Amino acid sequence: MDLYSPGKRFNSPEFAKQFHDCMSNSEKDAKPSTCLLCGKPTTSFCNSHSIPKCCLKNISDDGHVYTINQILNFGPIDREKGLARTGTFRLICKECDNQFFKNYENPTAYLDEPNQQMLGQIATKDLLLEINKASILIALDEKTEQNDTKAVRELDFSENMKALGKAVHAGRGKGSPYKLIMFQQLNYVVPFAFQGVANLVSDFDGHMINNLFLYNQSYRLEPLHIAVFPLKHFSVVLLFRNAAAKRYKKFEKTFLNLLPEEQLAVITKILFSYVEEIYISKAISEDAINDKELESAIRMNLMYLAFGGDEEFVIKKACRQYAINSLPHVPNLLSSAYAL
Ligand SMILES: [Zn+2]
Repeated sequence: MDLYSPGKRFNSPEFAKQFHDCMSNSEKDAKPSTCLLCGKPTTSFCNSHSIPKCCLKNISDDGHVYTINQILNFGPIDREKGLARTGTFRLICKECDNQFFKNYENPTAYLDEPNQQMLGQIATKDLLLEINKASILIALDEKTEQNDTKAVRELDFSENMKALGKAVHAGRGKGSPYKLIMFQQLNYVVPFAFQGVANLVSDFDGHMINNLFLYNQSYRLEPLHIAVFPLKHFSVVLLFRNAAAKRYKKFEKTFLNLLPEEQLAVITKILFSYVEEIYISKAISEDAINDKELESAIRMNLMYLAFGGDEEFVIKKACRQYAINSLPHVPNLLSSAYAL
């Protein structure tokens, strides 16, 4: 439901101006004129990674990792990527890239539960990646004169910029805007890495969480932040949301009653059905790469293109299909059975 989703709401009018002020006219290397973190004018932007390089290095082989397309085999999309090209964006200056994320990019920090400052830094990265995707899509819509989708993306862009302000504040050690739902330390190295957001459509039984098809200025999506970090000798998996988010109550009640290994299975299901920027070790078992259920989960991302009908019809259908209990039975890649 990421980059390809017509239902993804990315942006807003007041930020459209900011966007235009910030972005260069070139579609190819669209980038702001000021760093989105410190606000200083910058001409040399950093090639930032959404997932810390220290995590990617732990699972890479000769500097390469698989993308989800190694499982999906879909046309021209890359099946593997070099680390320099995995989940990257150019929106902040080198100084901010080196300084701002220090707490959360330090593996020893995960010997304890992550604090609000670390969650703020993770959320900042997640939002920068979303803003980067939105800017590319808006540029594309402008070029192709897709005014309807452009308005939706601008709404999302604005939401993400507002959320970014809060995340940056927390990342600097101020405020407690997040609720950590789950944190697990695993004493093995998991075979994939991920960091980003998923806007869950429905809970375990199909009750709606986010209506991705309601394009209304006053409706806010509530994202779930998810991180899977394979570290040198262990891994951490964490899940958090904005403390003010209201729609995850039922989901959390069921989720928190599960055994730790079952929680990992649920996170694996959600990730492969909702997001694209999962980077997988080339040492993963062949069984996993050839797993048909895993392929069906990844295919759900693309399925949104085929959704037609009015808003009520599509959201009801999506709630049924994305009910966590109905998602494909993917192998639990976060369990010790798939450890590297
Ligand atoms: Zn900066």
